[in-house]
Amino acid sequence: MSEIFDNAITSIALGIEDFETGTDERMLSAARNYYAGLLLLAKECLVRAAPKADAMEVIGAKFKPKPDGSGGVEHEVEGYATVDLHKLKARFKDFGLAWPNADINKLQRFRNDLEHYHLKEPMTALSEAIASSFPMVVDFFNILNEDPQTNLAGVWDTILEKREAFEKVQEKCLDSLENVAWPAEVSHLDRMACPNCQSSLLGQLDPDNKDHEHVIGKCYQCGEEISFEKFMEMVVASSYEVDAYIRAKEGLNPSIADCPECNASAYVETGEISLCFVCGESVAGECIRCGAGIDVNEYNSEYPGLCSYCAYMAEKMMRE
Ligand SMILES: [Zn+2]
Ligand SMILES: [Zn+2]
Ligand SMILES: [Zn+2]
Repeated sequence: MSEIFDNAITSIALGIEDFETGTDERMLSAARNYYAGLLLLAKECLVRAAPKADAMEVIGAKFKPKPDGSGGVEHEVEGYATVDLHKLKARFKDFGLAWPNADINKLQRFRNDLEHYHLKEPMTALSEAIASSFPMVVDFFNILNEDPQTNLAGVWDTILEKREAFEKVQEKCLDSLENVAWPAEVSHLDRMACPNCQSSLLGQLDPDNKDHEHVIGKCYQCGEEISFEKFMEMVVASSYEVDAYIRAKEGLNPSIADCPECNASAYVETGEISLCFVCGESVAGECIRCGAGIDVNEYNSEYPGLCSYCAYMAEKMMRE
């Protein structure tokens, strides 16, 4: 077994053992070890993909050119730093390896900012970070053609347990949101994050409520209740922000706007959908003067029946 793989296993096991102590003071060390272990596993994937190369030439962060004596250069590893998470992802791509589809950002943030986080319950937060990075452990072991259960024998059950517990709560949360009769299609609700603790375990305070106007959000990690207005903004953001980049590239207006009626940042304007998730207002219509379509970006509350051009002309006439 290689040294990197050995270290990966040791780090993950140490991290989970720290976690198992259940004491808040050990959570930072748990997060550091577990995170380091995951990155080492990823590095081992790269190293095994180029078995004839020197390991540092595969996972080194810096290279310097050196004349090769015959007019060209060769690149030599500089220092002992190895690739960080961002570069690892890029190198996976270069090596034709699939980067796992799992959320490691939570764990990374947790590891980097635990001191500044002032989390009331670092234990539960780390528990979720471990659970959401689980598919990553599985994928890396798959790429390596190794069995996680054998290699992580002592701690594998804990990892599995956290994953299962997380999935159970997540399912309940998403079920409670699926029941709701939303005014327009919603999606990606598992990507919302609690404003208090960043957890994605968000559902309804009353899981049986189906009425969109009575939705109160609740974080099932820290217990935070999220008001209707705030929660609607979060639902709209996760459902309609995804294509913001594509829309910007195509020169289209963003699909989320501030509502002209209630000011919530919950007005969805896609051309097909034009309404506010908070107050239900829709300003879509036709200009009474020229017949042009009016959407939320055209709308002027002082001239509600006119398109922006006709509103501008009307204003100009008023002034003259
Ligand atoms: Zn929370
Ligand atoms: Zn509104
Ligand atoms: Zn007009």
